[in-house]
Amino acid sequence: MLYFVGAGPGAVDLITMRGHRLLTEADVVIYAGSLVNPELLNYCKEGCEKYNSAHMTLEEVIDAVKKAESENKMTVRLHTGDSSIYGAIREQIDILKTFNIKYEVVPGVSSFCGAAASIGAEYTLPNISQSVIITRMEGRTPVPERESIKSFAAHKATMVLFLSSGLTEELSKELIAGGYEPETPVAVVYKATWPDEKIFKCTIETLPIVMKENNINKTALILVGNFLGNEYDRSELYNPTFSHEFRKGIE
Ligand code: SAH
Repeated sequence: MLYFVGAGPGAVDLITMRGHRLLTEADVVIYAGSLVNPELLNYCKEGCEKYNSAHMTLEEVIDAVKKAESENKMTVRLHTGDSSIYGAIREQIDILKTFNIKYEVVPGVSSFCGAAASIGAEYTLPNISQSVIITRMEGRTPVPERESIKSFAAHKATMVLFLSSGLTEELSKELIAGGYEPETPVAVVYKATWPDEKIFKCTIETLPIVMKENNINKTALILVGNFLGNEYDRSELYNPTFSHEFRKGIE
């Protein structure tokens, strides 16, 4: 049996209780060493075999899982944040299926949730933005043309950019070309929830300078939008005049 476990964004106590239990029980752990906090491996039992997938190909990962299966061992495949976001689990699952290897996915706290928590922000403010666009700049991994930053920017919704900290000059241009005002607020959260987390507040226009000055080119999220500003409407849910299933409002 293989469990894909979301490790959370960094802080060792932000893994789920289920993920933690599985990590303590695992005979084999294959962890994404480039981003998973190595301290999480202290939860593993003695004798647990540990593989750092940062040095491995998909084929090598699968070979390690197959070996564990043939020895009747339980494997945890530890992915950073939540494995549904840029986790590359689908390609693993499809191969596991061809070998009839059973698997289960255990969710994790994605770094985009960790980053919002770190800055005490809500992505979905009434009358500001009710949508969160999670995307990335095209790097060596292509992004379909219909999903260009420019096209998303036209919505002026909340945007969360993964995997893009090395490409902020182009990002800033694309966001403005798409329709965001240059002075739209931006927050960069580097290593959200890690002990060495850093937060930078800027605007779309000043983003590339701030990234350069602070030497941030990896392990950061770029949060864009007026949810970082001061204006919004209060919620209907907690409005005294608003009735709903659980509460009658004042007439
Ligand atoms: N599955 C992960 C994302 C993996 S892609 C998740 O749910 O968070 C890797 C990218 O995620 C990094 O380039 C960076 O943009 C972002 N990232 C991961 N952990 C982060 C953290 N603690 N703080 C800020 N960004 C992080």
